[in-house]
Amino acid sequence: MSSENVNEGTRCPQCQLSYQCVCELLPHIEAPIHIALLMHENELERETNTGQWLLKSLNSSSCHIWKRTEPCHELLAMIESKAFAPYLLFPSDESVSISTVKQPALNADKTPLFIILDGTWQEAKKMLRKSPWLQALPQVHLTPGRVSTYQLRRNQQQGHLCTLEVCCELLTSMGKESAAEQLLHFFDHYMLAFKADKSGHAFEPKTGV
Ligand SMILES: [Zn+2]
Repeated sequence: MSSENVNEGTRCPQCQLSYQCVCELLPHIEAPIHIALLMHENELERETNTGQWLLKSLNSSSCHIWKRTEPCHELLAMIESKAFAPYLLFPSDESVSISTVKQPALNADKTPLFIILDGTWQEAKKMLRKSPWLQALPQVHLTPGRVSTYQLRRNQQQGHLCTLEVCCELLTSMGKESAAEQLLHFFDHYMLAFKADKSGHAFEPKTGV
């Protein structure tokens, strides 16, 4: 696996890395679902915003900014459209397991639309509390038993699944296991490259790996 070298001091506009570009390694995923990230504005400033990779990788995905005072009109139009069956990914007393959502057929009349609140857990709870239009949606949660060992390893370091991992778990639940695995592998590589970049050099994989 070789990454294109980028001249030192020149950041790749996509992956923002200076010492190597990982963009060409990103898998392009097509899935019969739509994932909409509803972002808390704080997320825009976080360097660790992992949802960006989902947006670049999955053809049917979109990003929306949450507002306290009014619904997101773009997303609301999708929720009300006959083309979509909307769900809010949010674990609660009312949420049901994602396994109850039927894996979509290619010619299904409605595409499952999964809305993910992108922010910290505190921010996500606030977003829901202040948004009656989100409260009206059926809530689903991921099935913990499906979390792969690959994710568990990282989970121990971070304490919770990041947005990209949540999306990969969602893709797995919808029958796109290998696409999800590819995206997680990319993300793992990106994280190593990101750390190396911070230290002022490209990531060099150990020989023989
Ligand atoms: Zn790049």
